[in-house]
Amino acid sequence: MNSIVTGAAGFIGSRLSRRLLQEGFFVIGIDSYSDYYPRWIKEKNIEPLLKDKNFKFIPGDINSLDLSDILRQGEIIYHLAAQAGVRASWGKSFSIYTRDNIETTQRLLEMAKDVPIKKFIFASSSSVYGYSPELPMSETSLLFPYSPYGVTKLAAENLCFLYHKNYSVPTVSLRFFTVYGPGQRPDMAFHKFLKCVLEDRPLPVFGDGKQTRDFTYVDDIIEANLSCIDRAKPGETYNIGGGNRKKLEDIFPILEDICKKKITIQWEKKQKGDVPHTLASIQKAQQDLGYNPDTDIREGLSNEWGWIKKLYSHEG
Ligand code: NAD
Repeated sequence: MNSIVTGAAGFIGSRLSRRLLQEGFFVIGIDSYSDYYPRWIKEKNIEPLLKDKNFKFIPGDINSLDLSDILRQGEIIYHLAAQAGVRASWGKSFSIYTRDNIETTQRLLEMAKDVPIKKFIFASSSSVYGYSPELPMSETSLLFPYSPYGVTKLAAENLCFLYHKNYSVPTVSLRFFTVYGPGQRPDMAFHKFLKCVLEDRPLPVFGDGKQTRDFTYVDDIIEANLSCIDRAKPGETYNIGGGNRKKLEDIFPILEDICKKKITIQWEKKQKGDVPHTLASIQKAQQDLGYNPDTDIREGLSNEWGWIKKLYSHEG
């Protein structure tokens, strides 16, 4: 079976592409190498994929590529390309978010309605819940995005739903909760923390450390994406979280243990758009997709630490 992965040079997209190749899929990867973080990191992500004869890479921007021909070549579309990151979504950069999160999705859906695809799987985010008063957050909880990024992800989710209802595009939205593991983006907390540990610098921590997150290991996210092929119900939305939450301050002793170094913290002001807590109810994904996240945070962080050490020994 052929699959198309947008955002294939990114953190999750490259890991998903690698797994799809291992499973025997032919993969068409699209990525524009957007400048949100250094290109060399994305090139490292995609390097092993480029050596695989079952991987075809299309470098380019979804907003300008001729998509009709590309989409005809795939049965499953994983749409992960996006401008990620909550904190950068304020101010002038918002137009990047509307372009790369909303317009890309609309453009892909427009093309997808005219080709016989099996699934269109959209990478949504826990950010659509924002300041939702309900914990755990379930797919029926009220949605109060708290950042411009969350607003764009919700708009894209809504587009998926309406193309399903009006044109029967078999869309599925997966709401990922704080993904970590090898390949994690450099703007994300664990990547920043581990890099600081490596360089013997204090860890910059926003807020008071009491915020909680439902951290989800990247390979659990990949499993959820794969199980969507046959099991997800078109038009549905699923929470894909780790199934439990951790206080940020409780991560530091784990890091010290894994990295075998004493760490110091540099406390910084809470950032606009950051919510105090996230926790996913994963019941629906368990039932429909057989989703069962089973990576322990210590094991997941230890894998990310191994990757960070390797990544920065090759910099430049
Ligand atoms: P990432 O930035 O590493 O990957 C996204 C990729 O998309 C990048 O390589 C970028 O170059 C590419 N891209 C951006 N705009 C494009 C365009 N117009 N055309 C072609 N390519 C384009 O991000 P990630 O962390 O791997 O996130 C992947 C997806 O998962 C995103 O949709 C993100 O919103 C979603 N998500 C991620 C997390 C997380 O914790 N990482 C949580 C929730 C949701």
